[in-house]
Amino acid sequence: MSSVTLQNVVKRFHKFTAVHQVNLEIPDGAFVTLLGPSGCGKTTNLRMIAGLLDPTEGEILIGGTRVNDVPIHKRNLGIVFQNYALFPHKTVAENVAFGLKYRDVPKAEIPARVQAALELVQLPHVGERYPKELSGGQQQRIALARAIVIEPDVLLLDEPLSALDANLREDMRVELKRIQEQIGVTTVFVTHDQSEALAMSDQIVVMSAGRIEQMGSPEEVYNNPASEFVANFLGASNMLPATCTANGPEGATLDVAPFGAVAIPAHKAERLTGQGPAQLVLRAEKLRVLHPGETGETMLTAPATVEAVDYQGQTVRYFLRLGERQLQAINMIDDRPFEQGAEVRIGFRAKDASALPTE
Ligand code: ADP
Ligand code: MG
Repeated sequence: MSSVTLQNVVKRFHKFTAVHQVNLEIPDGAFVTLLGPSGCGKTTNLRMIAGLLDPTEGEILIGGTRVNDVPIHKRNLGIVFQNYALFPHKTVAENVAFGLKYRDVPKAEIPARVQAALELVQLPHVGERYPKELSGGQQQRIALARAIVIEPDVLLLDEPLSALDANLREDMRVELKRIQEQIGVTTVFVTHDQSEALAMSDQIVVMSAGRIEQMGSPEEVYNNPASEFVANFLGASNMLPATCTANGPEGATLDVAPFGAVAIPAHKAERLTGQGPAQLVLRAEKLRVLHPGETGETMLTAPATVEAVDYQGQTVRYFLRLGERQLQAINMIDDRPFEQGAEVRIGFRAKDASALPTE
């Protein structure tokens, strides 16, 4: 096992800069996800860690050792890509054994190592079959077995689940996480799917346009986003213009019309530098449409109009008119959902909001 470090890493393709000055510290044994929209530089970072691409500037360290000049086959990495590329004319066991061929593994040990890897991915009986005789999900497990059979220092996974259909993808999330925890290998996982990232990661690195926007636990990036981009990439958020009227070690007070004064805890106001213009960030899940008679006692409330209603299975998304602003609320569907045109009260708890400077 090993940590992975990127120091001031830049990658340019001709004049285009795909990765700008990335600094990243991935601790030994952690499951860290690079999350961001298509084209933001996730794969480029992964390929530089793998040794498939040279950084234009900066250092890459694995286990504290600089590896810029170490070729891919000497980095001891397990790699799985989206199109898992098993060899069609080799059996599953031959596919898994492939990675061991070029290493100093005594021939007599190979069958046991292959079998152990197949057991780890819970496919102990398919060694003699060919890839095309397996389902997509099974093939992906074989690709994973091939990556881990070498006992890599680091596992690099580039959107490994995106070719699978939705149900299988959710099963494989759990499965992949179980395997990673069992062998404890440092893992860098790339995805554009925020629910995948939130479900699986110890730390999420949110990227946009070649830059890191935020790195933190799923809870941190979800509840205390560092920017409007992060607030909206991890689901819908409301950004409300506000004035910061107090800012100290106990937290900040934001004046947000028409709700009034909102007391934000210090750790969720740490990005404010002083008083003056600011933004209140409120996730759509944290804004509630209140039923008549519901007091919303511990909430800050305001009147609003339901402009549109979008049913989404267990939840409903309301588009709400509040003066000149439109807000979104995602609420659990109960037996009395509101209809378009309804005049309602909306409310939220100050502890659920966070604060950002104006952009
Ligand atoms: P992601 O994996 O986040 O979707 P990539 O890392 O693949 O993004 O790409 C980041 C940016 O770099 C994109 O704009 C892409 O078009 C560009 N890019 C990637 N590889 C090359 C290349 N070999 N030559 C030129 N541009 C590239
Ligand atoms: Mg990619």
